[in-house]
Amino acid sequence: MTERISAGKILVVEDEPKLVQLLRRVLTATHFQVVTASKGEIAVEMAALEQPDLILLDLVLAGEMDGYGVARHIREFSDVPIVMLTAKAREADLLRGYEAGTDDYLTKPFSSRELLARVRAVLKRTRREAGAAPEAEIVCGALRLDLARRRVMLGNAEVRLTRTEYNLLRELAAHANQVMMHGQLLTAVWGPEYRNDLDYLRAYVRFLRKKLEADPADPKLIVTAPGVGYMLACPDQAA
Ligand code: CA
Repeated sequence: MTERISAGKILVVEDEPKLVQLLRRVLTATHFQVVTASKGEIAVEMAALEQPDLILLDLVLAGEMDGYGVARHIREFSDVPIVMLTAKAREADLLRGYEAGTDDYLTKPFSSRELLARVRAVLKRTRREAGAAPEAEIVCGALRLDLARRRVMLGNAEVRLTRTEYNLLRELAAHANQVMMHGQLLTAVWGPEYRNDLDYLRAYVRFLRKKLEADPADPKLIVTAPGVGYMLACPDQAA
């Protein structure tokens, strides 16, 4: 007898019944368990009650709370990976989504293949994080990363980072004072499928600078190596 093992539970937040149906069909066919919500407020509740492994979140929802609001609320209590569903991948929308705490996006219309590839890549990424054995902390000047708690301190103040912001900073900090190439960072933080997706990296470097640099327009901590990559510059340490 073969018992079907679930590939994971996915919360679909979408107000178009046809798309919900399609998502449910594709995901259950590949052994994902699917729960759905068509309103933002309900989606937040379900994220807490159902503890999904991943959330597919439409940005435009009927009702009071749109997708950005849903992501922000969920981030107050959960690190569950969130993939935005968006009609147009306009940079401003994506950045707003990332700032609300989403991890990735899918542009409508998408094929079943694109959907599954994205879902699997994001799940793989977050499962890899969960399995990583953290050791102590990394110190870089006034910046301190507590790897066990995934916390970041700047001087005496804690800096709140989203999951992806933290992962990128940790990757840079693990190789402090070395230039990390674009492809290296994208592979390490997002996964090998993302190795050429420079837009992700640029956006998150900008977010980190906004949170960590005294003057984000003149970065001293996360330094650009033009055309090559980025480096975390730590004053006290030799390369
Ligand atoms: Ca919609």
